[in-house]
Amino acid sequence: MSIDGLIAQYKEILEDSPLNYAAQWKANHPGSKVIGCYPIFTPVELIHAAGMLPVGIIGGGNRLEIAHADSRFQSFICSIVKSTLELGLTGKLHFLDGIVFHSICDPARNLASVFKRNFPQMMVEYIHFPQNMTSRFTEDYLTAEYERLKGAYERLAGKTLTDDDLQRSIRLYNEQRRLLRELYRVRRETPQNLSTAESYVLTRVGTLIPVEEHIEVLKEALAGLRDRDEKPKDRVKVILEGSFCEQPPLELIEGLEAAGCYILDDDFLIGWRWFVEDIPVEGDPIRNLARAYIDQSVYSGVKHDSREPKAKHLIDKVRETGASAVVILAAKFCEPALFDYALYRRALEKLEKEGIPHLSLEFEEKMWIFDKARTEVETFVESMLFD
Ligand code: SF4
Repeated sequence: MSIDGLIAQYKEILEDSPLNYAAQWKANHPGSKVIGCYPIFTPVELIHAAGMLPVGIIGGGNRLEIAHADSRFQSFICSIVKSTLELGLTGKLHFLDGIVFHSICDPARNLASVFKRNFPQMMVEYIHFPQNMTSRFTEDYLTAEYERLKGAYERLAGKTLTDDDLQRSIRLYNEQRRLLRELYRVRRETPQNLSTAESYVLTRVGTLIPVEEHIEVLKEALAGLRDRDEKPKDRVKVILEGSFCEQPPLELIEGLEAAGCYILDDDFLIGWRWFVEDIPVEGDPIRNLARAYIDQSVYSGVKHDSREPKAKHLIDKVRETGASAVVILAAKFCEPALFDYALYRRALEKLEKEGIPHLSLEFEEKMWIFDKARTEVETFVESMLFD
């Protein structure tokens, strides 16, 4: 299949109803179990090694009407929390055998409790990530937390996980993440050959299908990209930050690009691309997963790590990619993203003095009208191109 055909096929699935696709997978594989993974970061290897399918539960998109979830949450809360509950309350998560949440923020913590109470047939797990990366107990603590999760999935799957099972899963996800890093490299170096909306589709589909299939999709896409040789357009090269949990509508990503940006890097779906290098396979696999979270994972608004300021990572990213501007694109009412923006202010001012400006935008899952955001980006781009 051509690269255009491949992307169009998966784009249609995402625009239609991604969760129906996962539900259909379960219907086609009777006896298999499916575990929903709320953003941001799930050690999917534990689920895969137990013979179950990890599926990203990443909100309800802009076609879901919120009719029931509003009564369970206050108004000033991000969309993804409400839309995820709405999906549950309207029976759209019926195919899940379990769901896992993480200690990323208070709304996610509350959502886990609401799920536990409202959906007793579903195994609801909650991972407490370490808040202190420098303690000598951090690694042991997270290893124990993953061991606890492993035990829960062993009971659900009715099988004991061996080191071999886990090492095989780590190997597969290493390969998937390596291919995703390669996809991002291609986009960063030749953004005229791969748009961000396209790389988003190719990444997001991996949250719905088995990793073995996703690896083949990525290989086919990368092979197809070798034949693309587009001429670069006169656009501003930017990096995008702030969309690490709730995801902007695909139309908004397309709109940012159409307004004149090449997005060289972003933090979309960061939990599915969490590691900067392969996780070691040899040795205790659970401890390797824990160590990788501590030492080999990307920075993010929801990872508490005092060893290096997040703003330094932002500046490094600008330098490494050669971007000439920064776009902060944060979900409305997302506290971690808003706190990050406050932390980034000094770094952004420093960049501004070097002629690297930034633009801050907000989005909601339920956006339909993109004109305002597009006009803001067009004005920003024009001010740079014609300065
Ligand atoms: S969008 Fe932000 S506030 Fe909402 S669940 Fe995600 S991290 Fe928490």
